[in-house]
Amino acid sequence: MNSFNKLKPYLDKQNALFTALTLFEWDNATKAPEKAIDNTSAVMGILSDEYYNALINDDVTFLLNTLCKEQLSALESSIVKELKNAYDDVRPIPQAEYSAYKALTAKASSVWQKAKKNNDYALFAPVLKEIIDYKKKFAAYKAKDRGYNGPLYDILLDEYEKGFNTQILDTFFNRLKDTIIPLVRMVSKKSDKIDKHYNELHYDIDKQREVSHRLAKYIGFDFTKGVMLESAHPFTTNLHNRDVRITTAFFENNLESAMFSTIHEGGHALYEMHIDDALTMTPVGTGTSMGFHEGQSRLFENNIGRSRAFWTPLYPQLQETFKEQLNDITLDHFILGINKSQPSLIRTEADELTYCLHIIIRYEIEKYVINNDFDIDLLPKLWNDKYEEYLGIRPENDSEGILQDIHWSCGDFGYFPSYAIGTAIAAQIYAHLKTAINIDDCLEKGNFAAINDYLKEHLHRFGKTKTTNELLSGMMGENFNPQYYIDYLNEKYTALYSSL
Ligand code: ZN
Repeated sequence: MNSFNKLKPYLDKQNALFTALTLFEWDNATKAPEKAIDNTSAVMGILSDEYYNALINDDVTFLLNTLCKEQLSALESSIVKELKNAYDDVRPIPQAEYSAYKALTAKASSVWQKAKKNNDYALFAPVLKEIIDYKKKFAAYKAKDRGYNGPLYDILLDEYEKGFNTQILDTFFNRLKDTIIPLVRMVSKKSDKIDKHYNELHYDIDKQREVSHRLAKYIGFDFTKGVMLESAHPFTTNLHNRDVRITTAFFENNLESAMFSTIHEGGHALYEMHIDDALTMTPVGTGTSMGFHEGQSRLFENNIGRSRAFWTPLYPQLQETFKEQLNDITLDHFILGINKSQPSLIRTEADELTYCLHIIIRYEIEKYVINNDFDIDLLPKLWNDKYEEYLGIRPENDSEGILQDIHWSCGDFGYFPSYAIGTAIAAQIYAHLKTAINIDDCLEKGNFAAINDYLKEHLHRFGKTKTTNELLSGMMGENFNPQYYIDYLNEKYTALYSSL
């Protein structure tokens, strides 16, 4: 008998507090009334304090030191390792600063929302500056604690994706720029030939809700373990493997938007629903990293969801639902439509090809503000200049520029690169699924369960007990390799656009 059972009450308390905080976050973004925010953020501040106390205290310190020397089961040692990571992440930060930061970010999202709505960067700038200052201060505490002398931004990247740093990402992103920018130029010249007028016709919202519900069910989203609501910015919240929540946003004059965000968030949700019962409600009972999570959502949304095989059994039903709008649109036309690529200003509406350029812009700005002294008032110009350089278009106002994303108001610096890492992971998994289960055949036959069974068995069920590289090499004998993504983009866009 080891000392693990003595740690259990602390783990349970941390989990309970974390669950409560997550529920408040979900509520703030979906159903909470506008004027609740000040009082709610005070409550969240107290719960965060309690979470900190349950994680950082003399008993837990003692138990972690003791357990390191004891014989543990594989699951116990994964949990101890994960707890140690979370512990090392928070411990170097003074508690008063941690609570003040949590209270600040709880309020910042509503300031951001107002600023975005009114195109008022000046309103958000002081809050953003304060958040960045905290992030830099916290990263410096952690760097000192770990004896790390490299760029501070590496510390933030490590929080979302263990093992990735600026050096690896600079190489990865430079390769991506070399691949994507010439493809965007080739594709932009031909894109005008794809008539996508049908997508902007009027689509009844209730019918769209039905379609999203049907799609979620089709890809395996279990409505006895999950709910689907609406929010301005679609997202997924997971409490445990039997309570996973997603949101979608509907637009009257855009059919694709809600469908693909449902498939995307559905991919996140399925990953969480597939986690083993033995792991859920423990520190390892969730997806292994942000990047790997995006790997699942993007696999569903893009590699699978934008393929001809996926729509072969589904498109007739969609046509039937929207007879008037889609009657004359053939499946081939629809496939070209959902894969039409054109430089655009809004990341969440960007197509599969240009998407990573939006990420590279954010990565370069984050790296700059975290590693250097900077002028907060100059960031909108820096943002706009980069859009002009990489995508050839310039935002006309900050709402469609620097104010478009919620992430920085939540303090999520270092998160954006995960989207690009995930996109590359998705292409790698997709390449493997082609040989392992003949994925196109499964899709054409409407056999989505075969795909979920394979993903659950080889990737999802392990939660955080394995890292990104351990999962990929366990499944296909190879670590993270962005070449799959580069090949995928070249092959896909060359084939799609060759007929135009
Ligand atoms: Zn996502």
